[in-house]
Amino acid sequence: MTLWYVGVLALVLLAFSAGVYTLLTRSLNERLDGSLQAAAQSTASSLTRELTEGLAEAPEIAEAEEVPLAQVEAYVEQEALLGTVEEFSFPNEALAIFDAQGRLLAEKATPDNLHAALPPFDVLPDQPVRLFTPSDNQQYDAGLRGAAVRVSARTKGAPYLIVVTQSLKTNAEELTLLRRIFYIAAPLTLLLAALGGFFLARKALAPVEAMSTRAQRINAENLKERLPVANPRDELGRLAAAFNDLLERLNNAFDQQRQFMADASHELRTPLSVMHTTAEVTLEQPRRLESEYREALALMDAQVSRLTRIVEDMFTLARADAGRYPLQPSQFYLDELIDETAQAARMLAARKNVSVEVVAAETPFQGDEELLRQMLLNLLNNAIKYTPTGGTIRVGLAPNHSTYEISVADSGTGIPDNAQPHIFERFYRADKARTRTEANGGSGVGLGLSIARWIVEAHNGQLELRRSDASGSLFVASLPNNSH
Ligand code: ADP
Repeated sequence: MTLWYVGVLALVLLAFSAGVYTLLTRSLNERLDGSLQAAAQSTASSLTRELTEGLAEAPEIAEAEEVPLAQVEAYVEQEALLGTVEEFSFPNEALAIFDAQGRLLAEKATPDNLHAALPPFDVLPDQPVRLFTPSDNQQYDAGLRGAAVRVSARTKGAPYLIVVTQSLKTNAEELTLLRRIFYIAAPLTLLLAALGGFFLARKALAPVEAMSTRAQRINAENLKERLPVANPRDELGRLAAAFNDLLERLNNAFDQQRQFMADASHELRTPLSVMHTTAEVTLEQPRRLESEYREALALMDAQVSRLTRIVEDMFTLARADAGRYPLQPSQFYLDELIDETAQAARMLAARKNVSVEVVAAETPFQGDEELLRQMLLNLLNNAIKYTPTGGTIRVGLAPNHSTYEISVADSGTGIPDNAQPHIFERFYRADKARTRTEANGGSGVGLGLSIARWIVEAHNGQLELRRSDASGSLFVASLPNNSH
């Protein structure tokens, strides 16, 4: 990050410096040219003025002094040249005035001895002022720049040529100074930016460092640990919080698995130990009556049935969890399924003198018939189990919006309030002692409702306990009527 940052800044600085340098070079050159032009022009106008004034008086003076006019004019010209050169007040610029043949008539060198030279023939001005770059001059490494102007105020003969020259040294010095500033300031800025960037990046990424150190320590054994959340409102804080939520969910899932294992082994142990004890007691004596053997075997058979059911239920749930329980949908009538299942349940209910009533209109449906039958059987088994003698169970099927609601209502004892939120959990039983000792197939281990709920959800529906109190319980399975 810091390297990128410094790299980009270096490019920006480079572009900026180059821009400033170019602009300054141009502006310095323009200023120099302007000053040369001004010097040349002012010299030209001062020479013109002196000549015009002097020459105007020449005939008069020639007459009064009785000297030839040409002599007076030559004198006037000489004076004008000297006066102009003397007046010239640009300290950094050298001035020279030539005649048309290129002979030097008058000049003023700069304090550091720069002389203005005759420009090459091709730059002789054909316009008021002509700027030019004098050819190579050993003395001045920085180069020279000049301006030439032609003055034709003379009465006879060819015009004068005024040349002003200046060294580019001052400009070059200013540019050198600027370069030096850049050479020092740019690396210094980059260094500071790098240090600052590094510091900021370290500071900004410190939470990530802390999070990864902590995350490396978390495994299945200490899933309760959480990542440090420095500031819950920034992006990293939200990341840490999301990660912590994930840990929470994983931890819960792990807990459930552990609980499932513990419950499962507990449930499997009971029938096994009953069988073991029965066998031991029976075998204690070398001989027994046939009826005693039969009794023992019948007891063991009941335990084996129970074990088989537990294992089958667990297997069903395990496959469902792994997503390897493909539904086998078919087209059938829900009301028929309900009738058949209720008929089967009546055999069991009859022993307790419990009646099972069905109210269901013809309802075609698409779904896994066998699974739905098992779901209904589980609900009915529970209803029969928890309904006292003489009670009634009502099974209904009614359309409701876009769903079909299968309801199973019993006139049983109801489920205690504190147990209601848990009845769909695996291996949960509201009253363990009672269930286990129950005779009428009361061999529930607490998986019946878990399986029923899974079956309904696999059909994209919902199974809920809608009501449960002293007058009985009502379970409702809502199945979408477009279920496939
Ligand atoms: P079980 O195999 O013990 O019946 P379930 O998962 O089917 O297991 O039910 C879990 C618990 O919910 C039962 O132990 C029981 O306490 C309670 N329960 C379920 N259905 C009823 C009902 N119709 N009336 C009263 N209690 C019920």
